[in-house]
Amino acid sequence: MDIVLDYCDEHWLTPYVYPTSLPPGNVFRQLLSLSVIVVSGGYTLYFLTAALNYYFIFDHRLKLHPQYLKNQVQMEIECSLKSIPYMSLLSTVMFLLEVRGHGKLFDHFSETSLGYWSVPVYSASFIVFTDSLIYWIHRALHSKYLYKRLHKTHHKWKIPTPFASHAFNPIDGFLQSSPYHIYVFLFPMHKWTYLGLFVFVNVWTVSIHDGNYQVPERLKQIINGAAHHMDHHVYYNYNYGQFFTLWDRLGKSYRNPSSFEGDGPLQQVEKRQELQRRLSLSAAGDIAESTVLTDSPPRTPDEPEREVELIRETVIIKETITQEAIQATREVNYGFSKGHVRTRSLTQQCEDFFAEAFAQNCLKKID
Ligand SMILES: [Zn+2]
Ligand SMILES: [Zn+2]
Repeated sequence: MDIVLDYCDEHWLTPYVYPTSLPPGNVFRQLLSLSVIVVSGGYTLYFLTAALNYYFIFDHRLKLHPQYLKNQVQMEIECSLKSIPYMSLLSTVMFLLEVRGHGKLFDHFSETSLGYWSVPVYSASFIVFTDSLIYWIHRALHSKYLYKRLHKTHHKWKIPTPFASHAFNPIDGFLQSSPYHIYVFLFPMHKWTYLGLFVFVNVWTVSIHDGNYQVPERLKQIINGAAHHMDHHVYYNYNYGQFFTLWDRLGKSYRNPSSFEGDGPLQQVEKRQELQRRLSLSAAGDIAESTVLTDSPPRTPDEPEREVELIRETVIIKETITQEAIQATREVNYGFSKGHVRTRSLTQQCEDFFAEAFAQNCLKKID
């Protein structure tokens, strides 16, 4: 972070902001400057990455999912806006220690025997180290005591958007980002590499909330992507990892993403849309049939096919209703039904449930 601080000192802070009585090495000046840099940098990175992702990558059909909340994006942004300054303050203290030379960051590649190889080697060790720590921190945050007090805020979003990436309780957010700070106090790293990795982890955090499951086939089982994290938001006690699935597999908390098995939230939306389309077609067919009831046309060879299709549709409806009822029951059993959001979500699900039950009756009549 001292690269950014030095740049700001040289171009703005020394000539225009601070009096000469406060030199660049003054600890209070550094603390104040870093606070402003980290908060403004945090906001910029959040809005830029999340907005680009939301408009160009995030599949907006996910907003049709029954568990997507009304005004959710607005709530996610509000939560992030409140949290980022507090999260940044805690990070600022760590950055201050680092700027004052307490970390193991170095300026020149000549300072390490690895030379330029230090970039891939230390980057890989940074990712492995932080992934391990985040797994256990995240898992601890799901304990009854910490979940209720800290982590529940982030799980308000069952179908998250990229804007949910920084929507945390500030202490929760800091705890989960602490491994990124701790690393440079334990292991050496080039300053530019560290800065680049810090941007990367922010982008990654946004990307696992975008619902985009486009991971190369070979890496699907290794990388903890948006599909895994989506299931974490939906089913709570699975896929705590950040970058890899390794710790979830070792810790027995791995769950093959439902979207890989054809039943992810986006596929559920697609099925729902298909169902609605079929229902409207069936209803239209029903009306057409009743208008010609007195003068029915002779049975055509296509009619048995239509009957088979109607039976198939009924089966699909039954499956959907069963799945949603199971999911709703799971949530109630899990004990999160007291919160306003969860209650609203369940109400919404019940409305859908009855709407579909009604539709099912209509189909039975057609049968
Ligand atoms: Zn969690
Ligand atoms: Zn999340």
